[in-house]
Amino acid sequence: GQPIVAVVGRPNVGKSTLVNRVLGRRAAVVEDVPGVTRDRIAYDATWNGRRFTLVDTGGWEPDASGLAAQVSEQARAALDTADAVLFIVDVVTGATDADEAVARVLHRSGLPVILVANKVDDLRFEADAAALWSLGLGEPHPVSALHGRGSGDLLDAVLAAL
Ligand code: GDP
Ligand code: MG
Repeated sequence: GQPIVAVVGRPNVGKSTLVNRVLGRRAAVVEDVPGVTRDRIAYDATWNGRRFTLVDTGGWEPDASGLAAQVSEQARAALDTADAVLFIVDVVTGATDADEAVARVLHRSGLPVILVANKVDDLRFEADAAALWSLGLGEPHPVSALHGRGSGDLLDAVLAAL
């Protein structure tokens, strides 16, 4: 089948917004309330004539308990079938301990990881995006999922990783 790209990251970093940006339609539910996407949801996507499956996941919090732990487990399980991972970090918040813990799991997975510095709505946040080199996952790709900034370059990087 076509390659599978899993979209992972903490709640509210903009995973579903990015999925909608890539699809060009509002398929994934976006909410100001964290934790809305609870299951893995797969969508067919196309970029430059190449088809791939994009899997939106709920928020991944390594130390979560209760429902959040189940949501996290779904996000981790998405790696089992993925060919590449889009790891989303919110530059307004910056990298948290949870982001660093997820980064370690992703590094160990051996999967190609495309690091997304999201919410770079304007140039002021470019420096915050560059700070994410510290996660040890290579080049951070500055993106505004909300406004579309950087999404073309990001998709080029995704296809290059497949
Ligand atoms: P998810 O929980 O990771 O799927 O995050 P959502 O896609 O549901 O987005 C959470 C909140 O962040 C919503 O209020 C979005 O509008 C907002 N958001 C997502 N991407 C951006 C962005 O690039 N810039 C800004 N300023 N807000 C964003
Ligand atoms: Mg979501």
